[in-house]
Amino acid sequence: MRISDPLLFSRMTAIAAAESERPLTEALGLDRSSLERLAWRHVPALLPTLATLPPDADRGADALEEPDLRAYLLEHRAAHSEEEGWLAAIVARRSLRPNHLWQDLGLADRGELTWLFRRHFPELVAKNRFDMKWKKFFYRALCEREGVPICKAPNCEVCNDAVSCFAPEIGSMLPKAPPHPQWLPVSIGTDTPLPLR
Ligand code: SF4
Repeated sequence: MRISDPLLFSRMTAIAAAESERPLTEALGLDRSSLERLAWRHVPALLPTLATLPPDADRGADALEEPDLRAYLLEHRAAHSEEEGWLAAIVARRSLRPNHLWQDLGLADRGELTWLFRRHFPELVAKNRFDMKWKKFFYRALCEREGVPICKAPNCEVCNDAVSCFAPEIGSMLPKAPPHPQWLPVSIGTDTPLPLR
């Protein structure tokens, strides 16, 4: 499965825009200027929505573990591109949501998330060679760094928690925001940003 960056960012911004309880900047963990650059480059359909944000809209307060996860992702990025900086911030912020990570990123299935990591953070895919759930994988990695053991067993093969770490992350795509009224789609192909829906 291949998925372009514009489509990835389109999906992520659309799911974040569906949250009415906080500004888009906070839902994505990006300040307004970063989000505007992202939109100009990948999701121009988002620009009318961004125009409604306060000029000083920022990404809001980090959760306790968020800076560590963001830094961990950045350590493993492939190209040191600005896109990968945005992705690290978005993945770290969205990982705080309660669903499977692929769902809270607005993706169609877990395969799209694996593609994102393979393209932009390939060392993570290599490290997660047994295909652990991504949130479990991240928090296990961060806890190991801090010297805090979270595993009750010496290895996964004899662990009673294996189901919670490795069960398939199945589910449905979460509802997205409706399209902004100023945006009129021209064409949609596999590599074309989707409307905000
Ligand atoms: S299955 Fe058990 S040993 Fe393996 S990562 Fe999960 S908690 Fe740790």
